[in-house]
This record gives sequence, C-alpha cells and structure tokens, in this order.
Amino acid sequence: MTQTLTPDQAWERMKEGNERFVAGAPRHPHQDVERRHELAAAQRPIAALFGCSDSRLAAEIIFDMGLGDLFVVRNAGQVTGESIMGTLEYAVDVLEVPLIVVLGHDECGAVRAAIDSLQSDAPLLAPAIWRQVSPIVPAARRVRQEQLDAGEGDEPNAWRVGQLHLRDTITAILHSSEMISDAVASGKLGIVGANYRLAEGAAVPDVKLGLAENPAGE
Ligand SMILES: [Zn+2]
Repeated sequence: MTQTLTPDQAWERMKEGNERFVAGAPRHPHQDVERRHELAAAQRPIAALFGCSDSRLAAEIIFDMGLGDLFVVRNAGQVTGESIMGTLEYAVDVLEVPLIVVLGHDECGAVRAAIDSLQSDAPLLAPAIWRQVSPIVPAARRVRQEQLDAGEGDEPNAWRVGQLHLRDTITAILHSSEMISDAVASGKLGIVGANYRLAEGAAVPDVKLGLAENPAGE
C-alpha cells in the first residue's frame, strides 16, 4: 500500500485488470474487510480516472479493481471544468498518483447530443445539459467538416467525434494545469486517453503521454 509505481507500471496494472474483465475472469481484488480496514487511515490509489458517467463503464468493475485503487471523477461526456481540474490536481499533488486515465466510450449520449445539436431542427436542451454538452460541439463540427470535404455526407461519425473530444479533453487538462503538465514533463505522471468499447469491455488507448513506452510528446 505504500508502493510508488511508475506511470508505466500503473498503466500496466490498469491494462491487466481490464484484460481480466474482458476475458470474463475478474478477480474482484481489494473488496474484503481486511482491505477496508487497511485503508481506513490513508489511501494510496494507483491512478486517477476521469471518465464519462455512463452506467456501463463503472471504473472499478471494468478495470477489475477495488477499494483504494482508483481516484475517480466522472461526468456526462467527461468534460473538463473547475471541479474536475481541482479533483485531478488533488490526485496528482496530494495523493501522488503516477497516472491519469481519461476514459471516453462508444455510444456516448453526450457525444450524440453534441452531434444532434448541429442540426437546424435540433431539440432544445435544458440549460445545464447544454452547458455540459457544448464543449463537445467543436469536435463534432470538425468531424462534419472533414466528412463534407471527403464527400462522405454531413452526419458526423460518432466514434470519430468521441475520439477527437477525448484528445481535446487531454489538451485542455494540460493547458489548464501547469502543475499537471509539469508533472508529465518531469516523468512523474503519465496520462492515457482511452476509448472504452461497450460490447467488448475493452479500454483501447488512443493517447499516451509521459509513459516510457511512449514518452511525452508522443
Ligand atoms: Zn458517455
């Protein structure tokens, strides 16, 4: 519990847990009374996870982890904002996690709402929903333009929008936190952006920053 993992070791643990989940052979670690007692005084999670709130990607289940393993913050469409940044900075600065995983997924309702908002007859969204979804709209617009330029119609491919939004999200995290970008630059922190595939259960990495296998700058 006092271990300090490197960014690569932390990602390796996440990958192994996800592979067990995909294979239908989870161990459900760290969910017993002993673990609960062991953690009562302090936590030392191996990673922070910032993902979509979607009920189908419960963090500890899909990475086959348990109590004290992941410091989790989720909202619809994993959209950054002050409380997200405060939570991630806390994880890095105070809890000293060596890894942040940003997790998007296919069939995301927030991505779908951003795409639908491009239609002239788009239904009105309640104000707070619109504020949540609007940071995804630039990715939807870019994909629509790419497809128009390629003669592929004007209905943006949702998977591609989700991928660009995930990349935008990681860029926004780095731009809005000097502490986090410094931690990546110094090798203390890795960031992995992954797309979770609902049917297979696999978290497929798309962006890796600050990992030895793929150093900062990619
Ligand atoms: Zn979602």
